[in-house]
Amino acid sequence: MRRNNEKAAQAAAPARPQVRVIARDQHGISRRNISNGALRVLYRLNEAGYEAFLVGGAVRDLLLGGHPKDFDIATNATPEQVRGLFRNCRLIGRRFRLAHVVFGQEIVEVATFRGIGEEGNLDRHVVDGRIVRDNVYGSIEEDAIRRDFRVNALYYNIADFSVRDYVGGMADLEKKELHLIGDPELRYREDPVRMLRAVRLAAKLGFRIDESAERPFAREGQLLCDAAPARLFDESLKLFLSGHGLASFRELDRSGLLQFVFPSTAAALARQRGDEFRRLVEHGLSNTDQRVQAGKSVTPAFLFAVLLWGGVRERAERAIAAGSDAAQAWDNAAEAVIREQTGRVAIPRRFSLVMEEIWALQPRFEQRVKKRVLRLLSHPRFRAAFDFLVVRGEVDPQLAELAQWWEQAQESDSSELGELLPQSTAAPVVAASDESAALHAAPRKRRRRRRRKASGGSSGDVTPADS
Ligand code: ATP
Ligand code: MG
Repeated sequence: MRRNNEKAAQAAAPARPQVRVIARDQHGISRRNISNGALRVLYRLNEAGYEAFLVGGAVRDLLLGGHPKDFDIATNATPEQVRGLFRNCRLIGRRFRLAHVVFGQEIVEVATFRGIGEEGNLDRHVVDGRIVRDNVYGSIEEDAIRRDFRVNALYYNIADFSVRDYVGGMADLEKKELHLIGDPELRYREDPVRMLRAVRLAAKLGFRIDESAERPFAREGQLLCDAAPARLFDESLKLFLSGHGLASFRELDRSGLLQFVFPSTAAALARQRGDEFRRLVEHGLSNTDQRVQAGKSVTPAFLFAVLLWGGVRERAERAIAAGSDAAQAWDNAAEAVIREQTGRVAIPRRFSLVMEEIWALQPRFEQRVKKRVLRLLSHPRFRAAFDFLVVRGEVDPQLAELAQWWEQAQESDSSELGELLPQSTAAPVVAASDESAALHAAPRKRRRRRRRKASGGSSGDVTPADS
């Protein structure tokens, strides 16, 4: 296994690359757009006689005129040598040691040039149970070719403010293309999450994934099913909660990768009412993007509640059609879909509990009886559930009306509420659409469920309801 991976890493890596140096007046990077912390680290390393480069996404985004959030630095100084230069420095990472230099809120990550063959867990080199390949350092050329995409392997040199391009990243930036470094199939086998990174970067930057980088998705995409669920959770948040969620979703769907990470979402999109569900997901994600862009908070619970709704609804409706009790059917559907999803993406329990509540509150919006209205308005999860109703309303005019009513209800005091309420308070008011009919069929008394206290950790496992 290890042998194969080593061979793979060697074959995947191109021959020793030629460097192209782009002088300071030939590129658009200005030190004004680099954080103070990053500049201080670069200068200090340089003064101490080490090579020091800004690298990765920050260089890429600066060249594209963006404003990077985090700045990564690569150097020929070892982590211990880096620590020797900064008092505010701690070393992290067992498998590959990194230095974190801390300036108040800002953390600057400093990595020593990595040698080839350091990729992912598969390539960990263990002899007699000892990790011997940990912390194998390399040259800047080796560091460049073990990165994922050519546009991510550009180095900004603090010594002369030039950019070094070892693999053709500059040309790709101009063409707005994503190319993997080395043999694409092998690079994806080393680390399947690179496929998702391709999708995410394409969505974020508006780039095209080059054919050579996308072709292997068909064969290697299923490797994502075995990727670490915790890592896929992190990557999902980057895909959907960084302000480019809608573009990421479309790109995931288009490229065929959606089915491997969100199987229930992909299946629901492919079925009967797939178009309606697609519109719901797109509205949900576009609302989320707007919130991110406006600097408002977003929660993974709402995101996953949207992505998994189609699967939950389908399952519940099927069970109800087969004669199940509605409340029970919705509970079971939520539980089954969450269980399936957390096998792929480790959604922490503290979020999946909120998702269940968001779904469970949906039928209660249709019960416009004063006492119930007041109770729902003061429910701790009212806001999230209401936002979800608004998204459902974007694809169903009847639900849009209902959402509008609740919007008004929120702004009314208790006495005004009386006027808002329908004349006959006994009956629900909305003429039910298919979906709301099924929801509505829920008996009013929900079975009490006993739940384990949320752990707050990210184990992501689902507590089965007491069944
Ligand atoms: P973002 O804008 O999301 O921060 P990024 O490219 O900076 O994008 P990071 O996860 O911050 O992404 O990674 C920093 C750099 O580390 C990348 O630009 C790339 O050079 C390298 N890198 C990250 N993940 C991988 C990977 N899976 N395989 C190889 N290189 C990687
Ligand atoms: Mg980054």
